[in-house]
Amino acid sequence: MDRQQEFVLRTVEERDIRFIRLWFTDVLGILKSVAIAPAELESAFSEGIGFDGSSIEGLTRVYEADMIARPDPTTFQILPWRGERQGTARMFCDILTPDGEPSLADSRNVLKRALAKASDQGFTFYTHPEVEFYLFEDPKDPAAPLVPVDQGGYFDHVPRGTTHDFRRAAIQMLESMGISVEFSHHEAGPGQNEIDLRYADALTTADNLMTFRTVVKEVALEQGVFASFMPKPMADHPGSGMHTHLSLFEGDRNAFNEVGGQYELSKVARSFIAGLLRHAPEITAVTNQYVNSYKRLWGGAEAPSYVCWGHNNRSALVRVPMYKPGKGNSSRVEYRALDSAANPYLAFAVLLAAGLKGIKEGYELPEGAEDDVWELTDAERRALGIEPLPQSLDQAIAVMERSELVAETLGEHVFDFVLRNKRQEWDEYRGQVTPYELRRFLPIL
Ligand code: GLU
Ligand code: MG
Ligand code: MG
Repeated sequence: MDRQQEFVLRTVEERDIRFIRLWFTDVLGILKSVAIAPAELESAFSEGIGFDGSSIEGLTRVYEADMIARPDPTTFQILPWRGERQGTARMFCDILTPDGEPSLADSRNVLKRALAKASDQGFTFYTHPEVEFYLFEDPKDPAAPLVPVDQGGYFDHVPRGTTHDFRRAAIQMLESMGISVEFSHHEAGPGQNEIDLRYADALTTADNLMTFRTVVKEVALEQGVFASFMPKPMADHPGSGMHTHLSLFEGDRNAFNEVGGQYELSKVARSFIAGLLRHAPEITAVTNQYVNSYKRLWGGAEAPSYVCWGHNNRSALVRVPMYKPGKGNSSRVEYRALDSAANPYLAFAVLLAAGLKGIKEGYELPEGAEDDVWELTDAERRALGIEPLPQSLDQAIAVMERSELVAETLGEHVFDFVLRNKRQEWDEYRGQVTPYELRRFLPIL
């Protein structure tokens, strides 16, 4: 038993922990949990806990249904909302096959493989997400119109507002679980919030995001409201994005920084951005995985629709934020397509792979866009070489299908599963007769 595992066993005893939840994530990014008793911990560390993988989205084919979850002791945290005495803790797990090999269907493993590739090239990958979400009055019926908890807008200070108390409680809970928050504010939509996590290595950030979504849902329940990470819950209000700031470090040095470079960007950063841009359409079914994601991307309200980059240009897909001279380690690029409903493990893996490919192949960075690209005509955008992102899940699947980069990064099993699952979602959606069609056509046809 290693020191981390011993630390977990000791803490469980000293803190009177009664249940340990073993957490992992299915291929769609939904959290799964199984609780074990403290007496089972030692064997969970040495052998893992068996479960039926065929009942979990994307995890196995039926003939290899037995899977094993083995907890990662470095992720041990007590769940504050379960109370002090006889409490509950959690650890994230790696998924193994019955032979003890890392499962090819485990999202966390997909990201670990991508990070190992970066590490072979000498890089550590850091991410810092800005997570947007809405708070609604509890909808008893999902088809009834949504009622946001307030009418506030961007940065509004809503006196005695629900969202203030909400953010305060959520942030306290996150910090007590070791997740640092940098900023939080009211977002542009009514009842919409943003909470930005401090940057950390991508695996930690992905784990933190899974925790974040759970904490936000828990605090909402406690406060009698309903939290949603749906990308575009209301047609007339902004969607919820998850802009993510990306950087590569070589040891202690930010490899994106070069004093004297344009916007203090190094050649590594420029090729990384070029990689993001060139591969953006084919990774979009992963970064924006639902039918509803495309209503956000094409619904205006500062969500990106076109593939280009710019310095402080909020209409661009990749934004290079204001740099602080002398603060080289803060150099980073912001990818703005990602939404709050993505599977963070898979999304970070494909973003990293796209950027690394740019570095490896020495892609040249095209000219940055200075205009508001939404205001240009199609012809003007074409003249500038600015392509659209996929406009629907259907289009996104069609480009992903042909992508070697995505196939290689996700591995055959996850790649096939995502394509199958998303095609099914599209077919189901395409078959719907919507309230819009009835309103529009029934009276006249
Ligand atoms: N909610 C917008 C989006 O969907 C982003 C607003 C912002 O710039 O923070 O991406
Ligand atoms: Mg925002
Ligand atoms: Mg942003």
